[in-house]
Amino acid sequence: PEVRGDAIRRRFLEFYATRGHKILPSSSLVPEDPTVLLTIAGMLQFKPIFLGQVPRKYPCATTTQKVVRTNDIENVGRTARHHTFFEMLGNFSFGDYFKRQAIAWAWELATSEFKLPVERVWVSVFEEDDEALAIWRDEIGVPVERIKRMGAEDNFWSSGPTGPCGPCSELYYDFHPEQGIANSDLSDDSRFIEFYNLVFMQYNRTDDGHLEPLKNKNIDTGLGLERMAQILQQVPNNYETDLIFPIIARAAELACVNYMTADESTKTFLKVIGDHIRAVVYLISDGVNPSNIGRGYIVRRLIRRVVRMGRLLGIHGDGKGDLGGAFLPVVAEVAVAMSGDVDPDVATRASKIYEELQREELRFVQTLEKGEKLLEELLNAALENGASSKPYLSGKDIFKLYDTFGFPVEITEEVAAERGVGVDLTAFEAEMDIQRKQSQAAHNVIKLTVGGAAADALATVPETQFVGYDELLTSSSVL
Ligand code: ATP
Ligand code: MG
Ligand code: MG
Ligand code: MG
Repeated sequence: PEVRGDAIRRRFLEFYATRGHKILPSSSLVPEDPTVLLTIAGMLQFKPIFLGQVPRKYPCATTTQKVVRTNDIENVGRTARHHTFFEMLGNFSFGDYFKRQAIAWAWELATSEFKLPVERVWVSVFEEDDEALAIWRDEIGVPVERIKRMGAEDNFWSSGPTGPCGPCSELYYDFHPEQGIANSDLSDDSRFIEFYNLVFMQYNRTDDGHLEPLKNKNIDTGLGLERMAQILQQVPNNYETDLIFPIIARAAELACVNYMTADESTKTFLKVIGDHIRAVVYLISDGVNPSNIGRGYIVRRLIRRVVRMGRLLGIHGDGKGDLGGAFLPVVAEVAVAMSGDVDPDVATRASKIYEELQREELRFVQTLEKGEKLLEELLNAALENGASSKPYLSGKDIFKLYDTFGFPVEITEEVAAERGVGVDLTAFEAEMDIQRKQSQAAHNVIKLTVGGAAADALATVPETQFVGYDELLTSSSVL
């Protein structure tokens, strides 16, 4: 059977379509739901139906949803399985089928449709959900050793601080069955990968945090397309699947390196480019332009990371001296070319996307160049002061270059070394730690959802950020 990314997507949707599901399009990355900044799961477009606020049009539906999860930004390129942008395939029941049927179909999809060897599929259930455990064990026949009870952190899903939620059950694939059953740990990602999550959505969490039963029992699921592609294409990570690798290959070409034989840090930079380029292409297509607030800031941050990675890789523009020295549009072209089955609108907005990317890249390069000037001054000062001892740049200086000017520490170190100046990396790490703790604190609050400060930030995003598609199209100009 076909295992290309496009085929996996199609086979998932057809599997559920032949079981009575209506195939619906992905919704925008900019959600209508005010509790989240970006679309973080396939269920968001159906939330009003789950809550009974809007009548269902179909008993059940299936989609491939464009998703962006900024909480996974630090994982990109570090784990084999996390992206900021990914596609979540899903099947949804609006008060139609429930737990037993959802589990049976998920198993059939995994083992008959996608033909995963049964002994490689493990499952988790919410620790209190004896019913789900019994279905997996007695009706599906999964040996109890391969069913793990897990706590609320992993197995009780909600899209936000309030709203529909419920216990869930996850399917994992075992890359190393030879390691045996004893002492196995589903969170060990060198061995297991979670690929499918089934949420038994039966509660609404109210404003005061209390769980009230929903009138209907619903099903909400998510299967990561890139993860299934990794499993079926037998590659070591999501990045080397046909869904992302062509983007990486283009960037590698501009950097004059071969990904396959490159060292680990080069590979990581290329993976970050592959991931972030997809995210910004789809975000800009959905009307989110780089800015200093809210969603726009996410786009800006992703673009800056790509520009920095490009410099670390020694990429200089498109290699032909066009585009004013920018390279992002060239790499983005590959992502746009692959977008047809995900979101047919991306291709029609391509010129607008390239224009935004080029403008933002060149603007950031200017900032980096200002950083170069500051670095020059700091180096001169260090050399003057350091007459008696060995000259060096302080942790604070390196951090300022990094934080204010987006100046990668590797570049600071290299340029300083060329001038015979050392760098106090220990003190720099201490500065980074302070910043990490601050942003970690922010993550703990935000997680997947938006509450408190982040919701306030969202409230300050001006209306003009949410320009409609018509306006985008008429204001676009050819690059
Ligand atoms: P993980 O534990 O690996 O972080 P998750 O439990 O946070 O995943 P869910 O919220 O259950 O993920 O989302 C449903 C499915 O979407 C997952 O089973 C996985 O296949 C996919 N998925 C989730 N996060 C990512 C991501 N950052 N990149 C790619 N796929 C993802
Ligand atoms: Mg996660
Ligand atoms: Mg998980
Ligand atoms: Mg999960």
